[in-house]
Amino acid sequence: MAEDVSQGKVDLELPPLDNRLVASAAARLDAAKIPHVLWGNYMLTIFGIPTIVDGIDFVIDDDFMDAAYHTLQGEGFKECKSEGCISKKNLGYAPTPHNHLHITESLSLGFYKKSDILWRLPNLLNVDGETIILASDLNQLPGPDILGRGGRFQQDLHPVRVLAVYQLVPALLLLAKKDMSTYGRYWMNWISYILEYCTENGVFDQNRLTGIYKTYINAFLEGDYTAKHQAFACIGITE
Ligand SMILES: [Zn+2]
Repeated sequence: MAEDVSQGKVDLELPPLDNRLVASAAARLDAAKIPHVLWGNYMLTIFGIPTIVDGIDFVIDDDFMDAAYHTLQGEGFKECKSEGCISKKNLGYAPTPHNHLHITESLSLGFYKKSDILWRLPNLLNVDGETIILASDLNQLPGPDILGRGGRFQQDLHPVRVLAVYQLVPALLLLAKKDMSTYGRYWMNWISYILEYCTENGVFDQNRLTGIYKTYINAFLEGDYTAKHQAFACIGITE
């Protein structure tokens, strides 16, 4: 309708959720100099893990939480208007974002604090190929699966930062330890997906882990319950 045209950018309609939308959100954050990496289920698909995509998640440097929210609000990402929104609930079995916007009513854009998720990472900007890589990395990420789903991003999109898999697995083990009494199992499920799908597609080789993380994953894969528990007890302390 003609009268809608003049309502300004707060009423912009977003395109469907796909790699292009993720890259354009990352581009907005980069333009505003907001340190971030992609996170959540969308990130898992990039590693070739088939999972239900429930939106976009970013881990943001703590000092930029409000800036990230305000940068993407009004770019078509909508303020949450639902009291019963799942992204606001304290679920007990899964983490909830520090704050969030919406792509659609059921698809959200979640912002997680770096200090809650990736506290050991020195910074979220440094693409060194070992700690942080690009979502389009040809060497470390798979192509799409036989149904054309998931895998690395197209080369022509704005570069999107993600953790390298050898950084992601230790980060998830640290999270499982930190959140042991709440949703530690949620992070352990991510590790199981990585071991299942990323070993098969060649993205992950357990022998490239080091220290206690390697000990833990080897025990996990061998089904050695005692060694696994002993290693888990040392995570966050000895490495
Ligand atoms: Zn919401």
